[in-house]
Amino acid sequence: MNEGMVEDNPARMAELAERLAGVQRRIEAAVENSGRTGQLPTLIVVTKFHPAADIRRLAALGVRDVGENRDQEASSKAAELAGLGLNWHFVGQLQSKKAKSVATYAQAIHSVDRVALVDSLARAIVAEQDRTGRGALECFIQVSLDDDAGAHRGGAAPVEIPLLAERLAAAAGLELAGVMAVAPLGASPEAAFEKLAAISADLVAGHPGATAISAGMSQDLEAAIRFGATHLRIGSDILGSRPAVG
Ligand SMILES: *Cc1c(COP(=O)(O)O)cnc(C)c1O
Repeated sequence: MNEGMVEDNPARMAELAERLAGVQRRIEAAVENSGRTGQLPTLIVVTKFHPAADIRRLAALGVRDVGENRDQEASSKAAELAGLGLNWHFVGQLQSKKAKSVATYAQAIHSVDRVALVDSLARAIVAEQDRTGRGALECFIQVSLDDDAGAHRGGAAPVEIPLLAERLAAAAGLELAGVMAVAPLGASPEAAFEKLAAISADLVAGHPGATAISAGMSQDLEAAIRFGATHLRIGSDILGSRPAVG
């Protein structure tokens, strides 16, 4: 496949166009209902498990931001689609030893959850900046919103945020963007995102630039927008259910 390829699957293209437009309408309606003014939240289309050809189609439909949660899959897609000028957002749990790879393609990481990862990312980005002149890596601190720490879906406990924020703010090559969370299973997303908004306000009090809130997936984007999400991570409502392979 190459940049100039002719669309070989018009039915899939039409399906993606329709689903994407549907999600964009939901976002606009939610913003209107919430009374928010200013910029619309950034839509990150989470393309994990779906082929690079779908990302190419989404790019042709105007999508600029894509999300992936596994380094191997993300790095091979980013290499294949390097000519498209997309912003790659890493949204999954990351082992420190993968920081070097993520530094080669990602513009943002939404899953910073421990100091050791901050240090690995900083080393990796500085090395990559020396090599290629790339920009800073936008970093979101992933916060666990579960009361039961044992059952959580990833992320730092709220008490760990100040230290993580200090480390991120002080690290060369990293830019503290804000917070990220996944609503806990089986709980009200409104309650979860209200808690996240309060955590964000605490962070911004000490780090005025760190205003971003990455929250909202297919099932709960309206609740996330109501509580101030600036970045939405939407997968299945745009791409359809994920293939069982991989
Ligand atoms: C898969 C994933 C999403 C997208 O979820 P959907 O329910 O498919 O919209 C968002 N955030 C993270 C961290 C994910 O892993």
